[in-house]
Amino acid sequence: MIPISVVKLDEAAEQLAVEVIRSGVLAQGPMVARLEREFAALVGVEHAVAVNNGTTALVAALEVLDLQPGDEVVTSPFTFVATLNAIIEAGATARFADIREDDFCLDPAALSAAIGPRTRVVLPVHLYGQAADMAAITALTREHGLGLVEDTAQSLGATVDGRGAGSFGLGTFSLYATKNLTTGEGGMITTDDDLLADRLRILRNQGMRQRYQYEVAGHNYRLTDLQAALGIPQLAGYADNVARRRDNAARLTAGLADVPGLRLPAELPGRRHVWHQYTVLVTDAAEVDRDGVIARLTEQGVGCGIYYPRTVYDYDCYRDHPRVVADPAPVAERVARSCVSIPVHQHLTDSDVDRVVEAVRKAVGA
Ligand SMILES: *Cc1c(COP(=O)(O)O)cnc(C)c1O
Repeated sequence: MIPISVVKLDEAAEQLAVEVIRSGVLAQGPMVARLEREFAALVGVEHAVAVNNGTTALVAALEVLDLQPGDEVVTSPFTFVATLNAIIEAGATARFADIREDDFCLDPAALSAAIGPRTRVVLPVHLYGQAADMAAITALTREHGLGLVEDTAQSLGATVDGRGAGSFGLGTFSLYATKNLTTGEGGMITTDDDLLADRLRILRNQGMRQRYQYEVAGHNYRLTDLQAALGIPQLAGYADNVARRRDNAARLTAGLADVPGLRLPAELPGRRHVWHQYTVLVTDAAEVDRDGVIARLTEQGVGCGIYYPRTVYDYDCYRDHPRVVADPAPVAERVARSCVSIPVHQHLTDSDVDRVVEAVRKAVGA
């Protein structure tokens, strides 16, 4: 079986973890500070604030923007549920603008139409490892004076015109087990703004600046040193892993380019893709539909995934939710019905990738 994702930590992580265990500092300490410094450098920002997962990173980023009840956050309908749950958790109202089919991210034209008098924040999701159209999106946030929170959970290291995803507004990242860089569970918030970074550090630690001096009603969103120790060695090897993912993606594209039943993902001009997922769309020209393709891939021992099977608001728990405004998103709905992600991760060998190509060709009947 070729799995869709593999979690493999090296000896350096093991050694650092042992160092933490022997140090007796298991909660947030010097390892977290080191992970933050190196993470900020990778994204190209002044500050990185570590938190316990990517969802709390989103909640904290929204909270420091001082949203009031009734304030709206406009985001992508084609995302992991955490994006929506964080907006609700932060007390705001979620509204959605449709995506583009070529990058699976917020469509700036749809976003422009969705911005209204209650809009306070735009929350693009940099999906699958490629950043959204940040030139157009930041033009809109500037024009309307809106906050910007980037869900960069899947796109650490992606760039737009050389600038890191997560460096345009408040960047939020996930270090969950299956993400490109992992601490098991973990998250990060990035910013160039000294004041926001300071408020985020206080917010994650019970609102406390010094012991028993509380400045705001905060949270316990702290990451542990044991987790940070697992992440630090991966930062050093991150560029190599991304290079490997990029090679694998190029090999998949070369092998599948002539297949009629598929629409392949592409790296758009000016954007550097880190290939968290390689996601194809199954078209009408394929012999079977998306679910048929998945059944045939599974039969051939190739792992695959559907990220995501429905638009994020298309579940009973959100249907009549007073703070979820679900305007139709036809592109996202169509993509959700036809997408399949196939293995692209750094642990694949060339012959694994060739096996994936052959299996996909067979599955669509090429
Ligand atoms: C993983 C992910 C999150 C949430 O991160 P957790 O660490 O699992 O809380 C948020 N948004 C997107 C797009 C993700 O893929």
